[in-house]
Amino acid sequence: KLFNEVQELKGNIRVYCRVRPFLPGQDGKTTIIDYIGENGEILITNPFKQGKDVCRMFKFNKVFNTHASQAEVFSDIQPLIRSVLDGFNVCIFAYGQTGSGKTYTMSGPGTSKEDWGVNYRALNDLFDISLSRRNAFSYEVGVQMVEIYNEQVRDLLSNDIAQKRLGIWSTSQPNGLVVPDASLHPVKSTLDVLQLMEIGQTNRAVGSTALNERSSRSHSILTVHVRGVDLKNGSTSRGCLHLIDLAGSERKNAHVPYRNSKLTQVLQSSLGGQAKTLMFVQINPDTGSYSETISTLKFAERVS
Ligand code: ADP
Ligand code: MG
Repeated sequence: KLFNEVQELKGNIRVYCRVRPFLPGQDGKTTIIDYIGENGEILITNPFKQGKDVCRMFKFNKVFNTHASQAEVFSDIQPLIRSVLDGFNVCIFAYGQTGSGKTYTMSGPGTSKEDWGVNYRALNDLFDISLSRRNAFSYEVGVQMVEIYNEQVRDLLSNDIAQKRLGIWSTSQPNGLVVPDASLHPVKSTLDVLQLMEIGQTNRAVGSTALNERSSRSHSILTVHVRGVDLKNGSTSRGCLHLIDLAGSERKNAHVPYRNSKLTQVLQSSLGGQAKTLMFVQINPDTGSYSETISTLKFAERVS
């Protein structure tokens, strides 16, 4: 279902591919990345084949090489954030095998300014733009954070984290939003959101051996709801921004369903119609990841 819905919105979906650099200790001499073009082309070499058919070309809206900074990766996203304030639903997610840099892209590796990931930059823009419009619009922002693990939705910001299993409200909300029955927390700044996200991350790790292991099998979804009031005529708009760190896409993760899943239910309203979606396809550069990388890129190609 995710495949179909994502495919239906081709016009409104952008796909950016990002190649993670070799990690310290990895043999960086042989890579499967043969060539990255200026216009979103990426050529992958099959390390196990000789002669004909050794390469495969993919094309996306953009491809970021291993040197791309967090700021570069974010540089085109601002218009999407603006449209949340104009009442659109926007969904930004990272897809790829475990270890390919999904969390690096979405959350960033640290707290210094260069490290900031998409989440932080998106929220910062959201609050900056809403401030710049304060003479014309008044905005209220609220945040929900849920985890989907084994097809169960958990509220990561509830006090009663162990007990809290959620249904999905499928009643139609204004704007057709489908919202999980999760606690909604009013926020005034990026810092407010980051503090909530930290609580959410801590709650995510509860009951699991390690957050890393958990995050390879679960999706975490931060949803930012924005309600705007036009100060001139009193009309209201509602938009929402989903920021998603998906479970690892590796095939051994086949028990993590993407089709007909809770994930697609939560995202339904953001995967169709007026919604705008940006998918980061994260890949590894090493020969050992070749077959996972090809299947990740094939999925992404069907979407873009
Ligand atoms: P995932 O969330 O997909 O499992 P991570 O984001 O945890 O992957 O990345 C795996 C490792 O690779 C981490 O050590 C991370 O810091 C590193 N990494 C990922 N992307 C980059 C990048 N663009 N530059 C430098 N290091 C990266
Ligand atoms: Mg991760």
